[in-house]
Amino acid sequence: MKINKNYANVAESYLFSDIAKRVENFTKNNPDKKVIKMGIGDVTLPLCDAVIKKMHSAVDEMSKKETFKGYGPEQGYAFLRNSIKDYYKSHNVELDENEIFVSDGAKSDLGNILDLFDKDNVCLVPDPVYPVYVDTNVMTGRKIVFMNANEDNGFLPLPDKNVKCDIIYICSPNNPTGAVYNYEQLKMWVDYALEVGAVILFDSAYEAFVEDDLPRSIFEIDGAKKCAVEFCSFSKTAGFTGTRCGYTVVPKTLEFDGMNLNKMWLRRQTTKFNGVPYIVQAGASAVFTKEGQAQIKEALSYYKENARVMAKTLEDMGIWFTGGKNSPYIWLKCPNNMKSWDFFDLLLEKANVVGTPGAGFGKNGEGFFRLTAFGDKENTKTAMERIKSISFS
Ligand code: PLP
Repeated sequence: MKINKNYANVAESYLFSDIAKRVENFTKNNPDKKVIKMGIGDVTLPLCDAVIKKMHSAVDEMSKKETFKGYGPEQGYAFLRNSIKDYYKSHNVELDENEIFVSDGAKSDLGNILDLFDKDNVCLVPDPVYPVYVDTNVMTGRKIVFMNANEDNGFLPLPDKNVKCDIIYICSPNNPTGAVYNYEQLKMWVDYALEVGAVILFDSAYEAFVEDDLPRSIFEIDGAKKCAVEFCSFSKTAGFTGTRCGYTVVPKTLEFDGMNLNKMWLRRQTTKFNGVPYIVQAGASAVFTKEGQAQIKEALSYYKENARVMAKTLEDMGIWFTGGKNSPYIWLKCPNNMKSWDFFDLLLEKANVVGTPGAGFGKNGEGFFRLTAFGDKENTKTAMERIKSISFS
C-alpha cells in the first residue's frame, strides 16, 4: 500500500491555534480585561425568519408519508436551482438550470473540482490567499505559482503574460484582503485565460457584500463562460456557515481537450455526492423570496455598518487599508512598518482587540492585518474607539 505522500507537504496551519493560545495567555494574566474578537471569519447573526419558517415546514414534510423525501437529485432540487438562476438573471447573467450544482458549501466544491484536472497542471494562486486553494493542490502534488498581491497593485494582481499556468484562482471580493476587481480588471483575467487556455476558478463567496458598480459574478464578463467555473455560498450571504449550502456554476460551453466540464462535473457529483439535505435546500430557497431577500439584507447591512465604522476609524487615523466597502474584511497596513504578529500583540495588549496577522495568509501578508466586520455592533464600535486611542508613534 502506497500512501499519498503529498500530505506530508501540506503546511501545518498554526495561525488560529497560535492566536487562541496568545489570547488565552493574555486573559489568564488579565482576567479583568474584556477582549473583543475581530479575527473570526464566521457570521454571528442567526438565520433569518423566512429561512427558519421554511425549514420548519420542511421538517414537517419529512414526518408524513405523502411528503417525505429520500435521496434527492445529486445536483440539487430544481426549486433551488431555478431560484439561483433567477438571482443570476437579476444581475444580467443568463444561466441554464443544468449549469447550477447545489452543494454543501464552497469549500467542498473548491477542493472537489480538482478531480477534473490533471495533476501536472500548474496553478496560479494569489499571495496572500484563502489557504484552501493552496492546500488542496499541495494534497494532489500540483505545482503552484504565486502571484504577488501587494500595496502597489492594491492587492489586485493582474495577469502577467510571462507566467505559464493552467488553473487560475480568483477570489473577489477577496478573503483576506477585502479587495474587489472591477469589470475591466476581470476582463483582463478572462482574456488572458482564453489566450493561454487556462481555467479560472472564481470564488464569489462574498458577492452579497458588493454594493458599488462592481462584478458579483465572473459571468458578467464576456467570454467567461468559455473559461470559468464559479463557486458561491449561502454561508456569508445568509448565515449558513453551520447549516451548509452553496452552489457551483459550470457552464455547458466549458470545454478543454475535447472534454466538457459540465458533463464531467455532473458525472463526478452523481458518483461521489448524494446531495444536500432537503430541509437545508428548502431553507436556502427561502433566501430568494421577497421576505428572505429583505431579511438577509438587514443582516448584511448590520455587518456592512460595522465595516463602515472600522473603515472610518482607520481613515481618521491615516492607516492604509483595502476592503471595508463591498466586503466584510478590512486589510490594514500595520503602523510604523510593524510585523503582523508584533501588531497582533500590541493590539491585544493595548486595546484588548484580537485580529488576524496577515503573515498567516502568505508571505505578502507580512506587515498587514485582517479585521472582520462579523462581530457585534457595540463591540465593534468599542474596539475601534480603543484602537483609535492607541498612540502608535
Ligand atoms: N471561499 C472563501 C473565500 C471563504 O472565505 C470561505 C469561508 O470562509 C469559503 C469559500 C467557504 O465557504 P463555505 O462555508 O460555503 O464552505
